[in-house]
This record gives sequence, structure tokens and C-alpha cells, in this order.
Amino acid sequence: MGKPDTDPVVYLDYNATAPIRPEAMAATAEALRTVGNASSLHGPGRQAAQAVEHARACLARLLSCSPNELIFTSGATEANNLAIRSAATACRSIVISAVEHPAVAEAATAAGCAVHTVGVHLDGTLRVDELRKALSAGPALVSIMAANNETGVLNDLDLIVKLSHEAGALVHSDATQLVGRLPIDLRELEVDLLSLSGHKFGGPQGVGALYARRGTPLPIRPLAYGGGHERGRRPGTLNVPGIVGLGAAAQAVAGRVDQEAEQIRALRDRFEAAVMAALPEARRNGHPDRRLPGVSSLTFTGLPGDAMLTAMPLMAASEGSACSAGALEPSSVLLAMGLDRDDADCTLRFSLGHATTTDDIDRAVRYVIEAAHHVRAALGPWTTTTSPAIAAGQEGLRRQDA
Ligand code: PMP
Repeated sequence: MGKPDTDPVVYLDYNATAPIRPEAMAATAEALRTVGNASSLHGPGRQAAQAVEHARACLARLLSCSPNELIFTSGATEANNLAIRSAATACRSIVISAVEHPAVAEAATAAGCAVHTVGVHLDGTLRVDELRKALSAGPALVSIMAANNETGVLNDLDLIVKLSHEAGALVHSDATQLVGRLPIDLRELEVDLLSLSGHKFGGPQGVGALYARRGTPLPIRPLAYGGGHERGRRPGTLNVPGIVGLGAAAQAVAGRVDQEAEQIRALRDRFEAAVMAALPEARRNGHPDRRLPGVSSLTFTGLPGDAMLTAMPLMAASEGSACSAGALEPSSVLLAMGLDRDDADCTLRFSLGHATTTDDIDRAVRYVIEAAHHVRAALGPWTTTTSPAIAAGQEGLRRQDA
């Protein structure tokens, strides 16, 4: 095995947070050096306000929307809460999917109106028949994510918007994992509200935005009391360095989303092909094509995820979702897709991104294969009699998914 003590960590955890892009780093550092509250009327204040508006324009260009449809927030968690809490006053019910991030699922539960949860198929895609049924219950906000953080599975947002609008419902989408990774055009995708976060596509942590379509009959109600920032929709001194960094990341990625996606997809496919060829325990979760280019959710049947990660000290990857790491419960996303607890516990998420290299992937393949051999040897040979669920594996589960 190479020279493990000197090799840097292979970072395959872009869905938790992506490394900051050099353009975003430079812009954030420059903004940190400059004094100015974007609300102040003097020169430094006006300069800060101009920098914020430039960032807003860059983000609007990435999304193909109007700058004044964007509200800067502290991240996607706040954007999701802002959308859902605003809707709670206007809608009788909220329709979410069974695999939403807690920033949507828990916000919906706390909102105080009826919550309908739509299930997913074994490949992680939405059960559209259940959505249709939920929509018949009356005026609703539908909040369905664009791409799942654990599996990368993509939802058919065009269809979700069409069905929801036909039923008189508004649509919010948590697009935290999609923005900057695949093209998005809000002139064509007619969602009413959309959340995003800077640190998933190379901006700094702690900054994000809510898109609120002009003309949508849903007033955005601020979550906190304070000043009239962001046109009365999000009070508090603007995080100028964060916003400027987010804008710079948006500008950097805008012209090359397709190109980066193709590079990343090729690396992800190389990783999966090599790992799955070498390890009979490895099975892929999620729809094989309808998923983000950079995500690989793999179940290593019989090999617990925590043991695998411990055996790979030079690998940064996640068990389930990073936001729930440390919790004892297995991933609710994987359970909703029909995996049993054993298989969910034996699942790792590898997520690649803009700075991932072929060398990273080749090292990652080596680490995963070595870890699997190590854990398998430490636990003894796994047998198909130890757990019927493990024996059936996901392929068996898939066959049941008529
Ligand atoms: N939604 C999804 C789908 C996410 O993956 C995350 C980040 N894990 C969030 C929301 C929360 O984003 P933030 O860190 O910006 O609050």
C-alpha cells in the first residue's frame, strides 16, 4: 500500500460540503478586508451593497431568474424554513416526500398544518400516484427536493410542478444538492420557491438563498423580527463576505455546469465500476441514471459502514447523511427506499465534485477494496443464512417493486 502517512485525505464528501472554489475564496477574502454595512448610506456601505447586488446578479444568472426574486439567507436550512413557515399561514396542508432533508421535514411538522408524506420507490424516485392522491386533499404547499442528499436521486420537478399547479398547489423545492451540479433554468422550471446553499457548490459555508417567484400568491413572512433587510423578508445585517463568495462561486460555475457534470460523472462511473467489479458485497442504491453525476451510495452487505470508514483513515466519505451522522438511527432515506436496517447500516455515501481527480478516484477504489477485505476478515465470512434481508439484498427488493 503506497505511502499512507504522507498521502492527503481523498475527499469524497461534496454532499456534506464542497471545497471552496478559488474564485469564491478570493472574493470572500477581499470582502472581509473591506469595511461596510450594506445598509449604510456612506461610501463603504454603498460599496458593500454594490458587492451584494453583483453577487445577486451572478446567482440570478446561474438560475435564470430575476435578481429581485432572490432572498439571501444563512443557508438552505433557513431558506427551507422561510418557505415552509410562509406557506403555513396560507395553505391548509403541506405535501413532502419521505426522503426530505430534516430542514424540510421538521419545518413541515413544526408548521402546524396537516403534513402528507409521499413515499418513494425502491430506486428512490417519487411515487407520483401518491402525490396525486395527496393533492386531492385541498390547497397545499408541495415541498419536494430536486436531488436527494444521500442517494443523489433526481425528482421529475417538471411533472411535480405540473400536477401541483393543476391541483392549485404551490411548489417549493429544496434544490440544495442540485444547484451548481446540473443546469437549472427557472424560466422553464416553474417552481414557486426554491432553496439553495453556497457551500454545496464551492461557495463559503453559512450562506444560501431562497428564490421566490415574482407574482406567486404567497407573501414571504420573515422568521425573525428586526430591520427591513432583503425587502422586509429577512432581517439582519447581510453576511457580505459570504454573499460575495456565493456570488463568485455561482459566476465561476455558471459557464461550465455541463462540462463539470460530465467530468464528475465519468469519475463516479469509474469508481463504481471498479469497486463493484472487485467486491461481491457492493450494491448501488438509487436510480442508475436519474441521479446526480457525483453521488455514489453503495451498500456493502455484511460490512458495517462505521467499520469500513474506520478502516479507511485517508478517506472522507459519509455514512448516510452527514447531518445525521453520529445519530444511532439508520438513514431514514434508505429505510424509506425499502432497505432494512442491516443494509442501511452497511451503506456509505461517496460524493464527488469540481476538484475531484482521477488520482483521487484510483486511491479511493484501492482504499474501499482494502477496507472491505479488512472488515470481512475481522468479522469472519458473511453468510447468506445470517440475515434473510441481507441474503435477499437490494436486487431482490427491486424485483418486488412492481
Ligand atoms: N437540504 C439538503 C438537501 C441538504 O443536503 C442540506 C445540507 N446537508 C441542507 C438542506 C441544509 O443546508 P445548509 O447547510 O445550507 O443549512
